[in-house]
Amino acid sequence: MSPFDASSSPSTTEGAPRYRAVTRSNVHKTPQWSKLDPQMREAIDVVSQVLPFRTNPYVMNELIDWDRVPDDPMYQLTFVQQGMLSDADYAKMAQLVRDDAPKSEIKQVANAIRRRLNPHPAGQMTHNVPHIDGRPLPGLQHKYDQTVLLFPSQGQTCHAYCTFCFRWAQFVGLDDLKFQAQETTDLQDYLRAHKEVSDVLITGGDPMVMKTKAVRAYIEPLLSPEFEHITSIRIGTKSVAYWPQRYVSDPDADDLLRLFEEVVAAGKHLAVMGHYNHPRELSTEVSREAVRRIRSTGANVRMQSPLIRHVNDDADAWATLWKEGVKLGAIPYYMFVERDTGPKAYFEVPLVRAWEIFRDAYQQVSGLARTVRGPSMSAFPGKVLIDGVAEVGGEKVFCLQLLQGRDGDWVRRPFFARFDPEASWLNQLQPAFGEERFFFEDAPPQAKIRLNLA
Ligand SMILES: *Cc1c(COP(=O)(O)O)cnc(C)c1O
Ligand code: SF4
Repeated sequence: MSPFDASSSPSTTEGAPRYRAVTRSNVHKTPQWSKLDPQMREAIDVVSQVLPFRTNPYVMNELIDWDRVPDDPMYQLTFVQQGMLSDADYAKMAQLVRDDAPKSEIKQVANAIRRRLNPHPAGQMTHNVPHIDGRPLPGLQHKYDQTVLLFPSQGQTCHAYCTFCFRWAQFVGLDDLKFQAQETTDLQDYLRAHKEVSDVLITGGDPMVMKTKAVRAYIEPLLSPEFEHITSIRIGTKSVAYWPQRYVSDPDADDLLRLFEEVVAAGKHLAVMGHYNHPRELSTEVSREAVRRIRSTGANVRMQSPLIRHVNDDADAWATLWKEGVKLGAIPYYMFVERDTGPKAYFEVPLVRAWEIFRDAYQQVSGLARTVRGPSMSAFPGKVLIDGVAEVGGEKVFCLQLLQGRDGDWVRRPFFARFDPEASWLNQLQPAFGEERFFFEDAPPQAKIRLNLA
């Protein structure tokens, strides 16, 4: 059966990782459980009823420093914490868990909490889905002119779940996986009709939970002459950090590298967009070997990550990560601002602080690591970069610009917002100098959807 057959479920063994995942149902049996104090254990049992929890033996055994738990960044990155729910929500759910309440009741309360956590930020479900002949293509997104995103149906899970992830709603089943590509032909039909597109970005979840055979089925057709306009193929993945064995010792690791070589031989730029949150993720031999092996195929590795309180709100961690990356040949690419969804209150860093951390890290690295851009908010109008804080005509302002725009003409125009030391997302900013609106809110007709800035 073709991996794209609509009847094949995303959880087929075809896409399943090759180890036993650690989840709420078996975390009690891991050797590390005994190292957690009762309050931390309860937090896992309670919060994982609401937010997704999943990790794996490599993260447990090699990345988390159990002597530093609960403050350890890798623990914060993958284990749910009490502070991710409001006190009232936590108390309510904890009571249900203690009382061994019926599953249906727990689920009902969990869903009510989830709906209050802005499960669908930045209009992704409604505004970015492309169409052909009026038919929506739910496995694709096309927001910026040059780049089409593909969400392969079998790549909608991950080797471990990041606690801050903006796709959390999908992992708890709040979405009926609307992103899934039903057919590889959707992508091809769309690209045939859109010669302006140069980049395909395969994303997830994590597309690298798929076996090579499935990855190949999406990529190989793009190497034919009719897709000459597709010059770059990117794979957005956390596997380089959570399961680098994917490129080193998994049974089809070598097959994957052969596929990468074919893409490069076809004259395309292949970039593995590695999601690295913390330098610890590049501290193991297998993680470095993964980068070396990917690069040996002629593919590039680039590094991107959001800035997250409790995990990497530390300039030195970023500088170390970028320097380590450059040493291995991985190119620093983006620092993102954590999105306005899920347990945002737990993770958020004020924009001014994000800029300070970025600047302090940037000042520590040579020009070879200054390929990185940030901090950037992936907001409704586009990727908004915080260039810094300045005083103009006696008014303290944020200097901003769009690195990507829903309208390409918005890109790289400096604009200004009133300084606000508390603001942590674009919708909390007001235009500076007494203006009523940001320039992109006077949108041209085709983009004239009321922007989500209220
Ligand atoms: C970030 C992003 C891209 C890629 O943008 P680049 O600046 O080319 O890396 C494409 N589509 C969406 C929706 C994005 O958020
Ligand atoms: S690996 Fe990526 S998609 Fe998966 S949980 Fe982490 S941030 Fe989200």
